[in-house]
Amino acid sequence: MHIKAAGLIVTGLVLVTGCSAGSSSPKAAPTASGTGPAAAPSPGGSTAPGDDGAAAGTAAAFRKWKIKPMAPAPAPPKVKPVRTGSGVPPVVSDVPTKEKIVFVTFDDGAEKDPKFVTMMGELKIPFTMFLTDDIIRSDYGYFKPLQKLGNSIMNHTLTHPNLRTESESAQRHEICTQQTKLKAEYGSTPRLFRPPYGNLNEATKTAAKSCGLQALILWRESMQIKGMQYQRGDKKLHPGDIILAHFRGPSELKGTSMTTMTANMLREISDQGFTVARLEDYV
Ligand SMILES: [Zn+2]
Repeated sequence: MHIKAAGLIVTGLVLVTGCSAGSSSPKAAPTASGTGPAAAPSPGGSTAPGDDGAAAGTAAAFRKWKIKPMAPAPAPPKVKPVRTGSGVPPVVSDVPTKEKIVFVTFDDGAEKDPKFVTMMGELKIPFTMFLTDDIIRSDYGYFKPLQKLGNSIMNHTLTHPNLRTESESAQRHEICTQQTKLKAEYGSTPRLFRPPYGNLNEATKTAAKSCGLQALILWRESMQIKGMQYQRGDKKLHPGDIILAHFRGPSELKGTSMTTMTANMLREISDQGFTVARLEDYV
């Protein structure tokens, strides 16, 4: 299958190991709607907007990576706009907000480029990682400095199956075992889950909930090598959109490095007047 994206033909084959194999658009992309009780204000896990020192460093970093500087992320909301609680976990593709913010996520964990660690340490842009054990087990340590920068590691299953074709107990195994592994490796238990390929069914929600996960995270835009694929016809970012990217390197990106792909993505965000906020502060 071919996807025409920003003047570029991307073959399905190239994407086959990623979330967006064949299509960047999950079948259903409902807007978040919490069914549980209101979440308590969460002071933890948030990042205050940078002070002057951090802002200066960031401006130099933006120059270095040739990205138009972004405004610091606004202060996190006192009450998260996506509520999670005791009910069925919400499926979230975008967060209700009026702020010109988007959320950046990186999936799978195949590429382990040290320059990406340097880049994100310099730019101080928050992101969320959804990692699959089969793909990261060759080097769990790579992701620890990224985590230390304040970025969360979340659940993307043990082996990256299409969960729609699995029984509920098999789904539970894929999700719960990965919870245990990620806790053992990285010291914190994931709250958020992304189903591989964006494929899910009712059993996925039940299984994820039973594993302690609070929300299923999909996306509105998918970053390819040079440009984003937009689900909406206007081909623009909207406030609160979640963007999918991958840990992919030259072998998956036709020779392009992960840092080049990431810089292309951040330029597209910055050029539309958006900045990046931390997903866990809103869900
Ligand atoms: Zn994936």
